[in-house]
Amino acid sequence: MTEHQQRAMALATLIEGFGVKEITPTRIRIYEEAMESVLTPLLCLAVKKALARRTFLPRPAELLVDAEACRQEIFDANPFTSCEECRESSNWLTVIDESGIERLYRCPCRERWLQKLKALGVVARITSPNGVALVAGSRNGDPEWTS
Ligand SMILES: [Zn+2]
Repeated sequence: MTEHQQRAMALATLIEGFGVKEITPTRIRIYEEAMESVLTPLLCLAVKKALARRTFLPRPAELLVDAEACRQEIFDANPFTSCEECRESSNWLTVIDESGIERLYRCPCRERWLQKLKALGVVARITSPNGVALVAGSRNGDPEWTS
């Protein structure tokens, strides 16, 4: 199933799940556009949450609230914890390069955590265009960057 199909299926499930009889192309498009910035895994979770907790078909703004709640739950369930090797140095490790200069680099455990968040659909990218590392995802998968 393509990502587009997954999104369409999630929205169809939402609308069908609330027993809405008049499924118009316009209504579908409104939801598609409103949820455009939500990553597909989060959209699917938001639909599940809405079906489990809401009585009536959520408006797009309410579904966005559900998506944000799902995103926050994933972040809360997957906090970053440094590995043994970098725990004392705030995730930085030291290496001596060939000219004898001491250099700092990020421990790979951080990268593994970011990859995990990406796989869970919480963040879209794990590095910015200029290579700055992501510290945390923000609403709708827009990343926040370290300086
Ligand atoms: Zn580490």
